[in-house]
Order: sequence, then structure tokens, then C-alpha cells
Amino acid sequence: MNDANIADVVTKVLGEYGAPGAVSVAALTAKSPDGKSNSSADADVVARMVAKAIRDHAGTAQPSGNAATSSAAVSDGVFETMDAAVEAAALAQQQYLLCSMSDRARFVQGIRDVILNQDTLEKMSRMAVEETGMGNYEHKLIKNRLAGEKTPGIEDLTTDAFSGDNGLTLVEYSPFGVIGAITPTTNPTETIVCNSIGMLAAGNSVVFSPHPRARQVSLLLVRLINQKLAALGAPENLVVTVEKPSIENTNAMMAHPKVRMLVATGGPAIVKAVLSTGKKAIGAGAGNPPVVVDETANIEKAACDIVNGCSFDNNLPCVAEKEIIAVAQIADYLIFNLKKNGAYEIKDPAVLQQLQDLVLTAKGGPQTKCVGKSAVWLLSQIGISVDASIKIILMEVPREHPFVQEELMMPILPLVRVETVDDAIDLAIEVEHDNRHTAIMHSTDVRKLTKMAKLIQTTIFVKNGPSYAGLGAGGEGYSTFTIAGPTGEGLTSAKSFARRRKCVMVEALNIR
Ligand code: NAD
Repeated sequence: MNDANIADVVTKVLGEYGAPGAVSVAALTAKSPDGKSNSSADADVVARMVAKAIRDHAGTAQPSGNAATSSAAVSDGVFETMDAAVEAAALAQQQYLLCSMSDRARFVQGIRDVILNQDTLEKMSRMAVEETGMGNYEHKLIKNRLAGEKTPGIEDLTTDAFSGDNGLTLVEYSPFGVIGAITPTTNPTETIVCNSIGMLAAGNSVVFSPHPRARQVSLLLVRLINQKLAALGAPENLVVTVEKPSIENTNAMMAHPKVRMLVATGGPAIVKAVLSTGKKAIGAGAGNPPVVVDETANIEKAACDIVNGCSFDNNLPCVAEKEIIAVAQIADYLIFNLKKNGAYEIKDPAVLQQLQDLVLTAKGGPQTKCVGKSAVWLLSQIGISVDASIKIILMEVPREHPFVQEELMMPILPLVRVETVDDAIDLAIEVEHDNRHTAIMHSTDVRKLTKMAKLIQTTIFVKNGPSYAGLGAGGEGYSTFTIAGPTGEGLTSAKSFARRRKCVMVEALNIR
């Protein structure tokens, strides 16, 4: 392709995007986003040049609709209104379509680099704890690092190819467009990192609607990601949010016609809300992970894993152990070992009642002020002073107890004693409440492990380890902070945020 052809293609594509005026090929060829020469003019090169040209015209280019966004309100991806944020993300996504896969890979690496920078990692983790009043700084460092290191990128987007006498057909993962992502207080920065990587890897732009109680840390992270993406030559506003996150803004985002897909990471209300929009929606909702311990388990190790998993980030992770179901034969020895590993056992019914009064609302759910608090803090609120070796609060209760039935998200671990492992599996299924989220089992009986894994149907099933192994910490496999049980995507990754599209070339390229 010579320069004249390139100019034709560029002018045509720019025309479609409404960019005014002719574009000088010399200007376009001066620098491509990856810094390489544009002299070998293949389609990929042209695409990158066009993307750059569109970027250069982004201030004046007006795609279809009311895209006249108030760019004056833009500050590193943070917009005054949800409408402006969505319009900017829509324009960014159109530009992004013309970037190459290697560009995408660079931008995704840029997001990883933001959170894996030690200063940023520490700042984000500290800010998240301070702003939300929840969780544990050291554990947030681990979670943020996991999101940066182990969230899959463009390699997740595999291609299926079919060839034969009729030619060649490709089936590939293609972007949805603009995705609206709602993020929780419990993993505010981890979810932004994880979603940004997966959604951008799949070719989308993303509008975040963070939890208002995690506003500052979420906005700072979006700004840092934007600064990095700008330095890498990415289209502006691939990752955006609003200055004042609120339920009203979330509703505006869900209703915006240019938002093609919604991804809710949070409790039942927001999952129901996105599923009621009529749009493609991914719901990553609540869990209540049971941990079953049977008589064949290594009890000492099980106790250690359970305390570590339950106390991780003060029990905020939706995967964290929320109730133990123990076979009677080993229950006392398990309790002994749990205490050895940092469990404080409450036996006095009056003290248990005090704890219930502290942490439960009148409706029986968790008190927000107690969510994500440490065992030491919770005990101090009912007049019990313990040292920092205490990591969880343990009590033996009947199965109906609200501590068993409710997702508390604090290091309170009720234990229910049952006769047999089959009883334990039945009860685990019951208290998981069909969330299809996470379950844990400590056993060396392969048949019983298989039985529970099959029957409980959770997205994550951890055998003989702490729950966070299911997030990729000390367990094999990739990491995600958006675990979509209700809508079935399960462990979301780039391909969850993409559409399967088919490209058919007839009578050619079959070389068998
Ligand atoms: P939350 O449901 O209170 O808030 C989550 C997000 O939804 C926030 O941004 C909030 O502003 C928004 N929101 C909530 N209700 C809304 C409504 N009616 N309309 C519009 N927006 C609404 O949850 P949280 O306390 O931040 O997070 C904890 C919950 O999230 C737990 O239930 C936990 O299990 C779940 N969670 C699930 C996953 C997963 O991957 N499945 C991951 C993290 C957290």
C-alpha cells in the first residue's frame, strides 16, 4: 500500500468518525503509538495510524448521538456527570477498536504496572482501609498484588478456527463496547484493577461506579490508570468514573443507552438491579462459604487454614470461611486446634448475646460499622480485651443461628456439629443458600470431596486449603475479584467481557 492509498483509507475512516479536515500522511507517519516506523504499511499499521489520527482529533471529533461531552469537566478520567463519563468512554472505545492487539497488551501491562508500583500498592491498600474503615492493610497488599499479577490479559482471548473445502472461519472474542462496572467497598481497588485489565484486554472501555464509601481511593486509582494509559498513547478515557459516586449515578449508568454490558460486584440488591435492566449483565453477588471438616481430615492443618482464611482481610473476601460444619468425632479436637491457632472461643450464652447485639441489625443482617473489623476490635466492643494473637471469634451454635445463616464479613466463625460427613455436606449446601459462590472442605476421602464438589455447585471449591487459595493466593490458576455465581460466568476474565463473533472466508485459506 502506498502513501496515497493510506491517505484514502485514513480520510475515509476519519470521515466515518466525523473528524474534520484532511489528514497529512506525513503527520500520521511521524510517530505511531508503539514508536515503530510506519513505513511497512500493512493493515495493522494503518489501523494504528488511524487510531492516532482520531486521538489527535478527539477534542473535536463528534461520533453519533449527543457526544458533545464537556471535556472541560474531564480530569484524568473523572467526570462531573455520568452522561459525560459514558459519552467519553464511548468515544474512547471507538478509537480503541483501531488499536492493535500489541497496543492492548501494552495498555493492560500499564494497568498492572500502576498497582504493582510499590508506593502505589502501599498507598492504595492503606487508603482503602482508612476510607472504608474495613479490612487489614497487609492483606490488602496481597489482594491488590494478586489482582495486578494474576488477572488474565489478552492471552485469555483464544481463537477457534474451522477450515475445510468451504474456506476458513474464525470465531473470536470481540468487545462489547462500553461496560458499566459497579464495585464494592470490600475490594474497592482490587476490583477496579481486575475489571480494568479484563475489560480492556477484551477491547472494551469501562465506566466505574464505585461504592460511595470507597470514593477517594477509587477515584485516585482511576486517575492513576488514566495517567499511565495516556503516557502509553492509549485513547483517552478508556477507564472513567464520576466525581460523586452515588446510587443515582449508578442508576444513570445502568440506564444509559451507550452502556452495552453491566457488571455488578456486590450484594444481592445491585445484582438484582443490573439483571432487571434488560441489558447483558454479569452478577457477582454475595456468598456464605461453608467449610466442612470430616473425620479423615488433617485436623491440625485444617484448623490453621481455617483461621488464616477466615481472618484474611478481616473476613471481607466473599470467598472467606463463614461457618464451620464439623463431624462430631473430630469437633472437639478441631476446636482445640482452632484455639491453638488464634481463635477466641465464646461459651457463655450471655456473652454470645452481647456479640449478637453488637454485630447484627434488627433485621438480622450485619451492622455496617462492624463489617471488616478485626476480632480484637469486635471483642473490645463487648468489654473483652485480647492481644493481637487472637484472629477469629469462635462459638458452637445450632444450625439456625443467624451467625450461620447470614453473610457477616467479619472474623466471627460459628461451628455446627453434625453426626456424619454426609450430614455435613447436606447442611453446607443448605447454608450456602444457592449462591453458587464458594465452599471449602477438609478431608482425605476423595469420594466425599467429590460428592460435596458435585452437589454444592459453587464456582470455587477449595480442598484442604484456606479459602484464599481459590483467589489464586497459594492455589494454582488465575485470579479474579468478580466471581459471577448468579449469572454463571463464574471466574470472570477477559473472555467474560467479550462477544463470540464469527468471520467467514469462503473458498480460501484451507491449506490441508
Ligand atoms: P453493596 O451491595 O452494598 O455495594 C456494592 C455496589 O453496589 C456499591 O457500588 C453500591 O454503591 C452499589 N449498590 C448497592 N445497592 C445498590 C442499589 N440498590 N442501586 C444502585 N447501586 C447499588 O456491597 P458491599 O458491601 O460494597 O460489598 C459486599 C458484598 O459484595 C457482599 O455481599 C459480598 O459477598 C459481595 N461481593 C461479591 C463479590 C463476588 O465476586 N461475587 C466480590 C466482592 C464482594
